[in-house]
Amino acid sequence: MPTEPCPNAEFHGKPHRYCQYCDWMEAPAAQMPSVGRVVFVGCDPAYNNGSKIAPAVITRVWSDVCINARVLPDCAGPSEQRTSITHVDTVDDLEGDDLNRTYRWTWPPRV
Ligand SMILES: [Zn+2]
Repeated sequence: MPTEPCPNAEFHGKPHRYCQYCDWMEAPAAQMPSVGRVVFVGCDPAYNNGSKIAPAVITRVWSDVCINARVLPDCAGPSEQRTSITHVDTVDDLEGDDLNRTYRWTWPPRV
């Protein structure tokens, strides 16, 4: 990163979202849940082809952080509805029984 002030700083965000001079980048807008979007939830690996994270489709939005979602484990069995689950920053640290009982969801990482 250059130590000099960016010669293009007046255009940061107005209108450019990325600055080639200093690598400044506009922060992405906060995501809001809406019906049909996909989130991540914890899931028992025994019913999810060994993975403890499963995708879930939002079926109801109660607030910016509280939703209902239909879990889609990677298996041939039925999908599961979770109600009034709450947003957290990550579900990676869930273990054991918490994977199925948890009422937590998070956004998939940006790729
Ligand atoms: Zn710049």
